[in-house]
Amino acid sequence: MSSPSRPTEVRTLASDAEHPETEVRHTLTDRPVEDMTKPALVAEWSEAAEALISRAVPTDERERYWDRRVDLWQEMKARVDAEAPECPECGAQSWGQNAGDPKQCGGCCIELGRRHEDLIERIDQFWDKVRSVPEGEDAV
Ligand SMILES: [Zn+2]
Repeated sequence: MSSPSRPTEVRTLASDAEHPETEVRHTLTDRPVEDMTKPALVAEWSEAAEALISRAVPTDERERYWDRRVDLWQEMKARVDAEAPECPECGAQSWGQNAGDPKQCGGCCIELGRRHEDLIERIDQFWDKVRSVPEGEDAV
Protein backbone atom coordinates (compact mmCIF):
# COMPACT_ATOMS: atom_id res chain seq x y z
CA MET A 1 0.00 0.00 0.00
CA SER A 2 1.30 3.42 -0.85
CA SER A 3 0.86 6.25 1.57
CA PRO A 4 -1.99 8.60 0.70
CA SER A 5 -0.86 11.41 -1.52
CA ARG A 6 -1.76 14.92 -0.53
CA PRO A 7 -2.72 17.82 -2.75
CA THR A 8 0.08 20.19 -3.58
CA GLU A 9 -1.55 23.01 -1.69
CA VAL A 10 -1.43 21.15 1.61
CA ARG A 11 2.17 20.10 0.98
CA THR A 12 3.10 23.74 0.44
CA LEU A 13 1.52 24.70 3.75
CA ALA A 14 3.44 21.96 5.53
CA SER A 15 6.78 23.13 4.12
CA ASP A 16 5.93 26.72 4.99
CA ALA A 17 5.64 25.61 8.60
CA GLU A 18 9.32 24.70 8.57
CA HIS A 19 10.15 28.30 7.77
CA PRO A 20 8.08 30.25 10.25
CA GLU A 21 7.26 33.71 9.08
CA THR A 22 5.78 36.53 11.03
CA GLU A 23 3.70 38.23 8.39
CA VAL A 24 -0.02 37.67 8.52
CA ARG A 25 -1.50 36.18 5.42
CA HIS A 26 -5.07 37.28 5.11
CA THR A 27 -6.32 34.08 3.63
CA LEU A 28 -9.24 33.49 5.92
CA THR A 29 -12.50 33.64 4.05
CA ASP A 30 -16.11 33.77 5.14
CA ARG A 31 -17.22 31.07 2.75
CA PRO A 32 -19.96 28.89 4.25
CA VAL A 33 -18.07 25.83 5.50
CA GLU A 34 -20.73 23.44 4.26
CA ASP A 35 -20.08 24.56 0.67
CA MET A 36 -16.33 23.97 0.85
CA THR A 37 -14.48 20.87 -0.31
CA LYS A 38 -12.54 18.87 2.23
CA PRO A 39 -9.17 20.00 0.82
CA ALA A 40 -10.29 23.63 0.98
CA LEU A 41 -11.42 23.19 4.57
CA VAL A 42 -8.12 21.59 5.55
CA ALA A 43 -6.06 24.23 3.76
CA GLU A 44 -7.86 27.13 5.40
CA TRP A 45 -7.89 25.43 8.79
CA SER A 46 -4.10 24.87 8.57
CA GLU A 47 -3.64 28.49 7.66
CA ALA A 48 -5.68 29.70 10.63
CA ALA A 49 -3.99 27.26 13.01
CA GLU A 50 -0.51 28.24 11.83
CA ALA A 51 -1.27 31.93 12.12
CA LEU A 52 -2.55 31.49 15.68
CA ILE A 53 0.38 29.30 16.75
CA SER A 54 2.97 31.66 15.28
CA ARG A 55 1.26 34.54 17.12
CA ALA A 56 1.32 36.47 13.87
CA VAL A 57 -2.30 37.47 14.33
CA PRO A 58 -2.96 40.91 15.84
CA THR A 59 -4.74 40.72 19.19
CA ASP A 60 -7.98 42.19 17.87
CA GLU A 61 -8.04 39.61 15.06
CA ARG A 62 -7.35 36.53 17.18
CA GLU A 63 -10.98 35.91 18.04
CA ARG A 64 -11.97 35.91 14.38
CA TYR A 65 -9.18 33.48 13.51
CA TRP A 66 -10.08 31.28 16.45
CA ASP A 67 -13.80 31.20 15.62
CA ARG A 68 -13.09 30.46 11.98
CA ARG A 69 -10.71 27.69 12.96
CA VAL A 70 -13.37 26.13 15.19
CA ASP A 71 -16.02 26.35 12.44
CA LEU A 72 -13.70 24.73 9.90
CA TRP A 73 -12.70 21.99 12.34
CA GLN A 74 -16.33 21.19 13.21
CA GLU A 75 -17.14 20.79 9.52
CA MET A 76 -14.03 18.65 8.90
CA LYS A 77 -15.00 16.47 11.86
CA ALA A 78 -18.57 16.12 10.63
CA ARG A 79 -17.33 14.68 7.33
CA VAL A 80 -15.20 11.99 8.92
CA ASP A 81 -16.65 8.59 9.64
CA ALA A 82 -15.12 8.41 13.08
CA GLU A 83 -15.68 9.79 16.55
CA ALA A 84 -13.26 11.27 19.02
CA PRO A 85 -12.31 8.93 21.88
CA GLU A 86 -14.24 9.49 25.10
CA CYS A 87 -12.73 11.02 28.18
CA PRO A 88 -12.22 8.31 30.84
CA GLU A 89 -13.29 10.76 33.52
CA CYS A 90 -16.38 12.49 32.14
CA GLY A 91 -17.17 10.87 28.78
CA ALA A 92 -16.78 14.06 26.75
CA GLN A 93 -15.44 13.67 23.21
CA SER A 94 -13.80 17.05 23.02
CA TRP A 95 -10.03 17.36 23.18
CA GLY A 96 -7.79 20.34 22.89
CA GLN A 97 -4.07 20.94 22.91
CA ASN A 98 -1.90 24.00 22.72
CA ALA A 99 1.53 23.62 21.20
CA GLY A 100 3.88 22.09 23.76
CA ASP A 101 1.11 21.42 26.28
CA PRO A 102 -0.57 18.14 27.19
CA LYS A 103 -3.90 17.25 25.65
CA GLN A 104 -6.82 18.43 27.73
CA CYS A 105 -10.42 17.30 28.00
CA GLY A 106 -12.96 19.93 26.93
CA GLY A 107 -15.43 18.55 29.47
CA CYS A 108 -13.64 18.13 32.79
CA CYS A 109 -10.30 19.73 31.86
CA ILE A 110 -8.10 16.80 32.95
CA GLU A 111 -4.72 16.84 31.31
CA LEU A 112 -3.53 13.64 29.72
CA GLY A 113 -0.17 12.32 30.80
CA ARG A 114 1.97 9.22 30.59
CA ARG A 115 -0.74 6.99 32.08
CA HIS A 116 -3.00 7.84 29.16
CA GLU A 117 -0.63 6.81 26.37
CA ASP A 118 -3.26 4.67 24.70
CA LEU A 119 -5.87 7.37 24.73
CA ILE A 120 -3.40 9.98 23.50
CA GLU A 121 -2.57 7.75 20.53
CA ARG A 122 -6.24 7.26 19.70
CA ILE A 123 -6.86 11.01 19.84
CA ASP A 124 -3.88 11.61 17.53
CA GLN A 125 -5.21 9.01 15.10
CA PHE A 126 -8.61 10.66 15.16
CA TRP A 127 -7.12 14.10 14.54
CA ASP A 128 -5.03 12.74 11.67
CA LYS A 129 -8.19 11.35 10.14
CA VAL A 130 -10.03 14.66 10.47
CA ARG A 131 -7.10 16.44 8.79
CA SER A 132 -6.67 13.91 6.01
CA VAL A 133 -7.67 14.75 2.49
CA PRO A 134 -9.18 12.04 0.31
CA GLU A 135 -7.08 11.20 -2.73
CA GLY A 136 -8.14 12.88 -5.94
CA GLU A 137 -9.98 15.81 -4.38
CA ASP A 138 -8.82 19.25 -5.40
CA ALA A 139 -8.87 22.33 -3.28
CA VAL A 140 -11.32 24.89 -4.55
ZN1 LIG B 1 -13.24 14.81 30.74
